[in-house]
Amino acid sequence: MDFSLTEEQQMIVDTFSKYAENEIKPLAEKYRDELIPKDIALSIQKDLLQFGVGVGVAAEEFGGMGLDTKTMGLLQFELAKVSPDIAITSLIQMTVSKLFSCVPEHLRADYIDPVLAAEKIGCVAMSEAGAGSQVTAVSCRAREDGDDYVINGEKLWISSGDYSDFIFLLARFNDDPVGGLGLILVDRSHGYETTNIKKMGLNSQSTAQVFFDDVRVPKTNLMLAPGKAMKRLLILLASSRPIVGLMSLGIAEAALNEAVKYSLQRHQFDKPIAGHQLISAKLGEMATKLDAGKLMAFRALDTIDRGQRSDVESAMAKWFATELACEIVNDAVQIHGANGITKEFPVEYMYRSVRIFPFTEGTTEIQKLSVGRSLTGVDTF
Ligand SMILES: Cc1cc2nc3c(=O)[nH]c(=O)nc-3n(C[C@H](O)[C@H](O)[C@H](O)COP(=O)(O)OP(=O)(O)OC[C@H]3O[C@@H](n4cnc5c(N)ncnc54)[C@H](O)[C@@H]3O)c2cc1C
Repeated sequence: MDFSLTEEQQMIVDTFSKYAENEIKPLAEKYRDELIPKDIALSIQKDLLQFGVGVGVAAEEFGGMGLDTKTMGLLQFELAKVSPDIAITSLIQMTVSKLFSCVPEHLRADYIDPVLAAEKIGCVAMSEAGAGSQVTAVSCRAREDGDDYVINGEKLWISSGDYSDFIFLLARFNDDPVGGLGLILVDRSHGYETTNIKKMGLNSQSTAQVFFDDVRVPKTNLMLAPGKAMKRLLILLASSRPIVGLMSLGIAEAALNEAVKYSLQRHQFDKPIAGHQLISAKLGEMATKLDAGKLMAFRALDTIDRGQRSDVESAMAKWFATELACEIVNDAVQIHGANGITKEFPVEYMYRSVRIFPFTEGTTEIQKLSVGRSLTGVDTF
């Protein structure tokens, strides 16, 4: 398997990396731990369009660039190095754009074009207080009433939720655990409410609770009929999990760079701490883990770009990369000594941010169980 980048991929990554460092990093620092206002979040996404970040994967038939997922993974990696928060907003726009084919024909001009132009922000809402790892426990209800569905319930942990102009909502249409779940497009004007959640990190992007209280949505907004939603969403998640892994490794690479810099500057026992064997070995381990995680993510993305199902490769890459990323950032804090836990040094923020990645898009435990099931055929859920 060839893991080298094509000349075109290398050029896109190099150009974008410089842009991210010069243009995005200062913004990220300005809004550290503070929600980026929606108009600024949109203008950032608009600026990122030139590189295809986020919606670049949208198919050309919808007006997208049709970028391959490996290039998208590389872009998200570079973006997460300077701002995992902004990278999450892009990731969600990407996820929304991967569902364009499910948007009913008559709604496409109202949603697809504005997302591609970074004029609207969407989100995908599956999780609830009672339905985390067990997605089939979704209880947010869509009840038929004439030409409409009336939606009642709550969603939790929804990325971009507070920013959202619309939601791709996983709702329960009947009591069949899997067959009862469908996907419906709900516009902000239909009347859902959102509240932002304050977290240990990644606070400059929105993670929200969403409330539906007799929200009336036309039946023609149905995107995936009951029974069709789960399979489609599982394929969608498998295609973005390696990218989530790469984003966490982006934070890890930034932390490793900081650790290398600090180890050369900080002197103890009359030499730079880089000259102490345990520090040097730690840096060596960090770099090795970073490479291992990247290679696994690239393998999964390569599988996707060859048009194959990547459930197992993606699950492996997601848990492995996000867990290694946490270890690497933890080591970077350790190398900084007490300075590492102060706001003066960026590793403190990286530590709080990276810790969130083993939860998103399916926890480490759930990914391992999926891999185990692929080996034994035995379902433990
Ligand atoms: C920052 C952030 C952004 C998110 N964005 C979105 C979003 O945009 N849209 C969306 O729908 N959701 C989103 N989520 C939700 C995310 O997908 C869930 O947090 C995740 O699926 C886990 O659910 P939970 O947090 O309820 O944990 P739980 O399912 O309650 O799990 C708690 C613990 O038990 C473990 N566990 C659960 N079941 C098993 C089992 N069978 N065997 C072994 N261990 C098990 C888990 O691994 C975990 O360690 C987001 C979450 C975060 C933190």
